[in-house]
Amino acid sequence: DRVEFTEFYHHIIDRFEMNKEEGITFERNLPKETIYVWMDKDKITQVMDNIISNAIKYSPEGGTIRFKTQKFYNKLQISVSDEGMGIPAEKVDKIFDRFYRVDKARTRKLGGTGLGLAIAREMIEAHHGQIWAESKENKGTTVHFTLPLVKKKRRGSA
Ligand code: ATP
Ligand code: MG
Repeated sequence: DRVEFTEFYHHIIDRFEMNKEEGITFERNLPKETIYVWMDKDKITQVMDNIISNAIKYSPEGGTIRFKTQKFYNKLQISVSDEGMGIPAEKVDKIFDRFYRVDKARTRKLGGTGLGLAIAREMIEAHHGQIWAESKENKGTTVHFTLPLVKKKRRGSA
């Protein structure tokens, strides 16, 4: 469906902001304008929920989580950054594999099955988007994904 992304995104962040611990700060870097993308709202909600819960789960006390969108020619790039423990460079692409969890001992107490990002990748690929992560150990992680923008109809075109 055609969905206005900025408002949709604010609603999702609001829901997490109401329940989050006080030690974590949210910073929204979202445009004022309306942005239309093609997406299945329920599925993208599930993707966002996992990315944001991961960011919270791996954030230290006092950490900031940043939410950003960037428009490109035919796609919207959504990015969620945290200041958490990060992921070693050689493992950062594996986090999208089923059941993969970095350092089982370290993450065991944080819970989870290791399926969240594998499902996210399937859903983003079903939307013809990409999903990837950038990370620096002990500095933080950013997860990016893209969704197709709805093209504005040109005047005079059919
Ligand atoms: P689930 O989402 O199924 O509850 P999970 O969160 O462990 O479990 P994924 O969301 O698929 O699984 O993430 C896979 C692994 O990637 C995590 O176990 C963790 O090791 C690593 N990871 C994901 N996001 C982050 C992050 N923001 N910072 C550090 N490590 C992360
Ligand atoms: Mg997860």
